Amino acid sequence: MSTARQYLLCARPQGVLSDDDLELREVELPELGANEIRVRTTHISIDPTIRIWMSDIPQYLPPIELGEVVRAGGTGVVEASSHPGFAEGDVVFCFCGWQTRVQGDPQLLAAQKLPPGVDPAMAMATTGLTSGMTAYFGLLDITDPKPGETLVVDAAAGSVGSLVGQIGKIKGCRVIGIAGGPDKCKYIVDELGFDGAIDYRNQDVGEALDRLCPSGIDVCFENVGGPIFDAILLRMNLFGRVSICGLISGYDAPGTDTKVPGPYAFGMILMRRLTVRGFIILDYMDRFEQAAAELLGWVGEGKLKARIHEIQGFESLPGALRELVGGKSGNIGKTIVRL
Ligand code: NDP
Repeated sequence: MSTARQYLLCARPQGVLSDDDLELREVELPELGANEIRVRTTHISIDPTIRIWMSDIPQYLPPIELGEVVRAGGTGVVEASSHPGFAEGDVVFCFCGWQTRVQGDPQLLAAQKLPPGVDPAMAMATTGLTSGMTAYFGLLDITDPKPGETLVVDAAAGSVGSLVGQIGKIKGCRVIGIAGGPDKCKYIVDELGFDGAIDYRNQDVGEALDRLCPSGIDVCFENVGGPIFDAILLRMNLFGRVSICGLISGYDAPGTDTKVPGPYAFGMILMRRLTVRGFIILDYMDRFEQAAAELLGWVGEGKLKARIHEIQGFESLPGALRELVGGKSGNIGKTIVRL
């Protein structure tokens, strides 16, 4: 008989996620049904959106129900299969949730086999839903960046932001990244080839943008919101484009009636005739194959690099999410908990 350890959501976080909002339990898994797989989880992707799913604000998927296993993507090894498309030993990406084993219909789990020999963590960091796919479509489809244009991206050393900046460089843009702390800023300039970096924890963002973007900003890839977004909006050029990917600075706000910080410079959308568009990566699923081919091509040519911020152990999951969303994880690249 197989067992699984699981984190269930038992209360909606009021502000920062607390351990009391979760219940850790161990369950026995039933016998495998027809056309099912059982996967032993090896890596769980830590994504800021999990914090959104824990709340009941209006959102793009149903919130995680109270009493339900915390929803998350990850990779694992197929331990047992009664489904013709999967065999024991296959390595898969799936919506495994915060649990050490998951079992069910592979279609409902959105299970996809990884090619043999591919490192699961690196796959999640390059062509993953919440890394490469998000960066690729959120930048190219929403903003259509042109050579010579100035692109600004925030949370720039993270999973999505670090790839956005590099894709911007591939497209010939001048790229400025905004990130928290000198190590992150050094990484995006020295290792990823960004043209400049702003350490928002130690620098005045507005002043630094004036210095690093003397001709204004044509494209903004927004991950953060709040005062950083305002500083960018105030410097956007006429007919600039803004891709709203995430607004992480507001995710720990307690409820629907809580005012999240900014943007206050909303008038700039009118004054500079900006195109501002939000997107959710799930809308692009039918084009993932095309994107994966191009992303892997860039990886192969050494034009696109990804780093993994690996955290060990199942019990690290709540802390890993708390720190990522709170901007305290110090992560460079894609955050993954390895079981
Ligand atoms: P990251 O790896 O970038 O980690 C999040 C980073 O956000 C932190 O490391 C921190 O970096 C920064 N941050 C956290 N709190 C704050 C704050 N209050 N002010 C400024 N920066 C903060 O995460 P992801 O790459 O996974 O996600 C980045 C964004 O993309 C998120 O907003 C996420 O919700 C969004 N997203 C959207 C998708 C979509 O389909 N639209 C899909 C995937 C992600 P630092 O130390 O530099 O502050």
